Amino acid sequence: MWLQTVARIVADVYDSRWKFDAFLAPVLPDDALLFSLDVADDDIHLDAAIEEEPMPDSVAALSLGESWSTVRDGITEEERLAMLERMTAEEGPSSAGGLLVDRSIARRAVTDHVRAVDESYFESYSRFGIHRDMLGDAPRTSTYSAALERNPSLMRGAAVLDVGCGTGILSLFAARAGASVVVGVDGSQRMAALATALAADNGFGPQTGGGAGTLQVVAGKLEEMETLPVKQFDVLVSEWMGYALLFESMLDTVIVARDRFLKPGGAVLPDIAAFFSAGVTREASGTEFWDSVYGFDFSRVAREEHAEALGARLARVLPVPSSAVATQTAAVKSFDLTTVRPEDVEFTAAFELLPRLAERSTVVGVVLWFDTEFSSRFCKEHPVTLTTSPHAAPTHWAQTLFDLKTPLILSGTNVLNAAAVPGAAPGTDALPAASLWCRISVARSARHRSLDVSLEVEPRGLDGKQQPAQVMLYEV
Ligand code: SAH
Repeated sequence: MWLQTVARIVADVYDSRWKFDAFLAPVLPDDALLFSLDVADDDIHLDAAIEEEPMPDSVAALSLGESWSTVRDGITEEERLAMLERMTAEEGPSSAGGLLVDRSIARRAVTDHVRAVDESYFESYSRFGIHRDMLGDAPRTSTYSAALERNPSLMRGAAVLDVGCGTGILSLFAARAGASVVVGVDGSQRMAALATALAADNGFGPQTGGGAGTLQVVAGKLEEMETLPVKQFDVLVSEWMGYALLFESMLDTVIVARDRFLKPGGAVLPDIAAFFSAGVTREASGTEFWDSVYGFDFSRVAREEHAEALGARLARVLPVPSSAVATQTAAVKSFDLTTVRPEDVEFTAAFELLPRLAERSTVVGVVLWFDTEFSSRFCKEHPVTLTTSPHAAPTHWAQTLFDLKTPLILSGTNVLNAAAVPGAAPGTDALPAASLWCRISVARSARHRSLDVSLEVEPRGLDGKQQPAQVMLYEV
């Protein structure tokens, strides 16, 4: 109950945030969200967007919308609380009963929010079904198996740390590959207990078989562990990737594990993670279903669904068929896992989508997917790549679809299609775009483990003529 009161008070205080210049300083040098605010004729209304924001479960005030999370980043939690305090003092008593926000209460609200999100996160990993889905994802699991079991010069005799071991499958691969010692860590007590039992069942537990004692499992959140049974590891392996790579991802945990427990120069598996993008037709979202339902026109449902998804800033995770991909693949961004820092998950990247199909197409959205590489840097005998591309075998990550506000007509590779009509705007039937210029910005959301994403898409003509960019905001 007290939490709701605090949340209301904090919300009142935050309502006055625009009055404070400190919040309006750009953080990213080329920040797309802030940039979009300067576009006079853009149809983005931040305040309206904030009002529409659905409140998260218990800590309503901590969800402040994209504007807050964009400007808040780059300041520490301490600074944030100090600002909050200053704002409270400057504002005077809030309308919520004349109380001032107490720093310790605000801090507790933040900590409680993080704890609540973490609890439900580990709870979700305590169910067998989710592990069944992951284990049954053959491209995923067999790529890890190949990386661990077909690179003997890396694995034989190695000390291996498995970050977020779940059922222990990666630890078992490592043990079977001849690692001298494997430590698996999992924040789900139930999974840690299960992995311990499975290690024993398979001859790698404390008392059993030829590989006896090879595999140990430690229960708990890795960030809270100062020591492990092995001081420094030769190899760190983890399957940390979330939807759209970073959504609910464990990258921060892997970075902590690497910096605390990996030998200098040790191997991180996978060692490269990269984002890709492409434009897609409406076949990607399956909306054709509504065109004719037993002969009736139900297309209104598709329009309402589209408006709803944009309003709620939802990106959709769905399997996109290869035939729905209208553009060539564009590389967006890549991370080197041996050096990536927590702040690197916030970035702005520009890329250009070029036609792939011979005929013109109508692009209704942009999809993101990722690859992770077990490159020859560490996997000398058998480098492998796990891809979640729409052109490859499907995985449980599927692809992540970002709907455009308005469809854009893209020229085919047959340029005759793009014959210009004088005065026409690129991206229309009269002048299909030669390319779609895109810019994506990713920032951590005020909600723990969530990200704010902005996407700008600008149709460009063959002559370089361009239309104003569409700007979409999402929370993933
Ligand atoms: N490695 C397993 C499971 C991957 S799912 C496999 O490949 O099948 C990710 C696992 O990491 C989950 O079981 C989750 O509980 C665990 N995990 C996530 N964050 C963690 C953290 N901070 N500390 C410890 N374990 C974590």
